[in-house]
Amino acid sequence: MNVYRLVSPNCDRTEITVEHLILHYTAVDLQGTLDIFMNGDNAVSAHLVIDTDGGIYELVQCLEGKAWRAWHAGVSRYSDRERFNDHSIGIELVNLNGNLFSYTDAQYQALQHVVQVLKQSYPALADPERVMGHEHVAGFRGKADPGLQFNWCRFYRECYPQMKAPERTPVCPEALQQALMPLAELVSGATSAETASGTVSAKKEDARYWQAISSLTESVVKLLQE
Ligand SMILES: [Zn+2]
Repeated sequence: MNVYRLVSPNCDRTEITVEHLILHYTAVDLQGTLDIFMNGDNAVSAHLVIDTDGGIYELVQCLEGKAWRAWHAGVSRYSDRERFNDHSIGIELVNLNGNLFSYTDAQYQALQHVVQVLKQSYPALADPERVMGHEHVAGFRGKADPGLQFNWCRFYRECYPQMKAPERTPVCPEALQQALMPLAELVSGATSAETASGTVSAKKEDARYWQAISSLTESVVKLLQE
């Protein structure tokens, strides 16, 4: 499987002890994601990005047996652990909103490959309990990724066969998903004539539109968590 290697300036070049794996969605397309993570003005990054076609991008080193500290989890806690940037690898799955849109087969296959490689270097990752979503460590501040559309049962079946899969409950309620879905359908189904006439002012590739929907998702989730 091809891995494209880039070096994000947004990381600490100090080795971390990897104890967890955190999954995210990007809320923008691949190019938008790379633009954000490769720009030193943005204090964000992830170790790996997996595109919809299964392409794997390593932005912060982790695949060769040593992981630097990426900036993907932010303020985070789960059980008695905190500060997940200090002890986790972050993987971003390209998806405009993982609460609305499915992940691709190619992404699940790439994940399977990556998890297999990471398990060889980081023994803690042999335990399926060590893999969770950003929403599970930072749902209290509204983080809702990888979201309702991520199939945790499939992930665990493919990456941890014959092992008991942990419960991974999404933080985004289905009622919120249903409320947001018309916005997604409106834009995906818009013709260029509608767009030009101003009936629909956002295009599917308009990053700001999708970032706005994701931040709306996060705001509502945060309210519900309080
Ligand atoms: Zn995230």
